Amino acid sequence: MQLKSIEIIGFKSFADKTRINFPRGMTGIVGPNGSGKSNIAEAIRWVMGEQSAKNLRGTKMPDVIFSGSADRHSLGMASVILRLDNHDHYVDSPFDELLVARKLFRNGDSAYFINDKQCRLKDVNNLFMDTGIGQGSLSIISQGNVEEIINSKPIERRSIIENVAGVYKYKQHKLTAQKEIDETNDNLNRVEDILRELK
Ligand code: ATP
Repeated sequence: MQLKSIEIIGFKSFADKTRINFPRGMTGIVGPNGSGKSNIAEAIRWVMGEQSAKNLRGTKMPDVIFSGSADRHSLGMASVILRLDNHDHYVDSPFDELLVARKLFRNGDSAYFINDKQCRLKDVNNLFMDTGIGQGSLSIISQGNVEEIINSKPIERRSIIENVAGVYKYKQHKLTAQKEIDETNDNLNRVEDILRELK
């Protein structure tokens, strides 16, 4: 799986349609302070389903829409399209190429698309589940994240390490299985009560 390109329109400082290609071997994006480097990383995180405006350095989600500059009016919509090469089917999808898109209008209307077909946030989440690159993963470390990890309590740090090591999802499976065992035990107890009454 490889990130091929990202197309941004109206997201943060990118008022005009901007396409950034990520050819093999590309290792960094450089630019002056305030030129939009972090905004690119945030656009990637946003299109993959980020739900927290705070994680995108805003207070509410429409803050990601271009809010105008000295010589330009604000825009009414933000759109980001992520193009992924999926020839190795690292992402569990039959498609060799994946186009994941998200749109947001200033009135709060929003939409997600996978290969041009409108879908739910859940579908985008499912697409990236267990790949280590989706929402909430640590594949994108933003400014402040490192400080946050260093300053976190040992128990919080443990949960971060468990998440990275892939233990977290097994803990979730364990919780679900434990719940099912408890429910089955309750049902068995109920059956035993009924049997006792019938004797
Ligand atoms: P640094 O090197 O200092 O970390 P950077 O290259 O990562 O900077 P960003 O933080 O990505 O830069 O971009 C900051 C710029 O984006 C600021 O000029 C800010 O005004 C602009 N910006 C952020 N949100 C919006 C928005 N909704 N509309 C217009 N411009 C925005």
